[in-house]
Amino acid sequence: MRRPMVAGNWKMHGTRASVAELINGLNQQALPAGVDVAVFPSCLHIAQVVDGLVGKVVAVGAQDCATEAHQGALTGEVAASQLVDARCSMVLIGHSERRSLLAEGDEVVTRKFAAAQSAGLMPVLCVGETLAEREAGQTLDVVAAQLAAVTESLGVDVFADAVIAYEPVWAIGTGLTASPEQAQEVHAAIRAQLAAKNAVLAGKVRILYGGSVKAASAAELFGMPDIDGGLVGGASLNADEFGAICRAAGS
Ligand code: PEP
Repeated sequence: MRRPMVAGNWKMHGTRASVAELINGLNQQALPAGVDVAVFPSCLHIAQVVDGLVGKVVAVGAQDCATEAHQGALTGEVAASQLVDARCSMVLIGHSERRSLLAEGDEVVTRKFAAAQSAGLMPVLCVGETLAEREAGQTLDVVAAQLAAVTESLGVDVFADAVIAYEPVWAIGTGLTASPEQAQEVHAAIRAQLAAKNAVLAGKVRILYGGSVKAASAAELFGMPDIDGGLVGGASLNADEFGAICRAAGS
């Protein structure tokens, strides 16, 4: 039995004032005990969120980390070990916005994944196909290649301490959601790919769905056998909506 997880990706949103409001809203939510809840604010707001959520069982993560695990001469980057020092426990790796807009390829994604783990952060590896790739019937191949880039370089066992998020690019921030069946097909394929190398581990890895998840769509998605929760963008900026999604994962 896998413990569900709901993670909120706040992206490049927030000011100190709006983050304070969001923290206040989250502190008022009844979060289900059986669900791991995490939020990923911008780096600037990590300390504010860690301090503001004291007493609430919510993990705080970063949206990215450097390819180097430890601090050094790399202007503008943040090392995984610095994130640990800032009391982060998780980090998103390979979000599609970084893959497409910042040209992060599989090699960089794999190095960031390794850096995160070596510093003690739990990576959330994001994978997913574009609309053109889906329409060309390449969804499973694209996702398999993104996952294989990590397993071939680092081995499958790294997923004992990692989470995978399947996020179809065409569903991110568009209001379009993959149907529960479309998402389940990809989640099952991801699990099967891991199972071919380590069946026990594959049965334990949490695979989240991301792409315009809302409270109204969450229960149906999370009811699928291989969907273990969600990575939520836009809806995580509304504490009531995010709380309702967390509760859907616990029901
Ligand atoms: C995301 O960017 O990780 C995401 C899932 O965004 P949204 O929920 O807004 O589609």
